[in-house]
Amino acid sequence: MGRVYNFSAGPAVLPEEVLKEAAKEMLDYKGCGMSVMEMSHRSKVYDTIIKEAEQDLRDIMNIPDNYKVLFLQGGASLQFAMIPMNLMKNKKAAYIVTGQWAKKAYQEAQIYGEAIKVASSEDKTFSYIPDCSDLDIPEDADYVYICENNTIYGTKYKTLPNTKGKTLVADVSSCFLSEPVDVSKYGVIYGGVQKNIGPAGVVIAIIREDLITEDVLPGTPTMMKYKTHADADSLYNTPPCYGIYICGKVFQWIKKMGGLQAMKELNEKKAKILYDYLDESSLFKGTVVPKDRSLMNVPFVTGDAELDAKFVKEAKQAGFENLKGHRTVGGMRASIYNAMPVEGVEKLVEFMKKFEAENC
Ligand SMILES: *Cc1c(COP(=O)(O)O)cnc(C)c1O
Repeated sequence: MGRVYNFSAGPAVLPEEVLKEAAKEMLDYKGCGMSVMEMSHRSKVYDTIIKEAEQDLRDIMNIPDNYKVLFLQGGASLQFAMIPMNLMKNKKAAYIVTGQWAKKAYQEAQIYGEAIKVASSEDKTFSYIPDCSDLDIPEDADYVYICENNTIYGTKYKTLPNTKGKTLVADVSSCFLSEPVDVSKYGVIYGGVQKNIGPAGVVIAIIREDLITEDVLPGTPTMMKYKTHADADSLYNTPPCYGIYICGKVFQWIKKMGGLQAMKELNEKKAKILYDYLDESSLFKGTVVPKDRSLMNVPFVTGDAELDAKFVKEAKQAGFENLKGHRTVGGMRASIYNAMPVEGVEKLVEFMKKFEAENC
């Protein structure tokens, strides 16, 4: 069997070119006689790998000099704790709850201080992004927290919230590098890489330097201080070496593809193919308010759980994998990250049309 069209929400599809290159370098990385998996993270060869990865990411995202790029571990979920531990100087922060991941971050922050829910879309199963133009943000809040693209529900902020001058912290796990971004609008941008960049095990955090201090909550473990990792250029202890190496290859692939503007155009093209069909279909329906639709995660339903299951099963047999919706939502979800080719979405829609004709 060849490669399938993999619509997994994460870990997810990676560019085939990157996988082939990594395979070629598996036993002997550039003549050094060993795999990247086997080399010391203190070696010269590895130092070049991690430094180039960081530089390429800086180039792609146009990251200003006063921001640090950290390669961390623990998944996006560990950031739910690291953020309050490092940033809650006044022990107060505002959270906008637009889905499960934002909710988990909000709940975790309550362990460390006062996390205040300033907006939520839970009333309509997180199917929209609330109006965040004039929220009641406490004067002494240390930051405003958002999950910018909601992987499970398929919503995305099209404009960032008005934080009333407070630091914006964003989980971008599922929209990382999907379009150009103005880094200077954020205090912290972070994400697990397994959605749109690389293998699970790496988290990238981009943090404005003035937010990285020794002044953290008492009891914060050394490994959970941003300063520890910033001072050591992400080499305080053994980093997820191989994962970072693959991320670096994906950064180079994005550069070659034309950068984030090209990614955005490609992602818009793919999403339009799918949403246009969902809007005209009499069987399938998108679940998200059109103006808040994500370019990356596209949930849809037939309205009949049995028919949904039949679709997922037949799609799998036809080579379209991982279309089952999140266990908390049901229905279907197609995640169409950067590495999903246009052809994959075209063929999926063709298959959906055929299924519709057979089941209507
Ligand atoms: C997947 C995901 C997470 C959780 O990531 P882990 O690396 O498994 O902790 C958090 N936030 C968002 C937006 C996600 O998509």
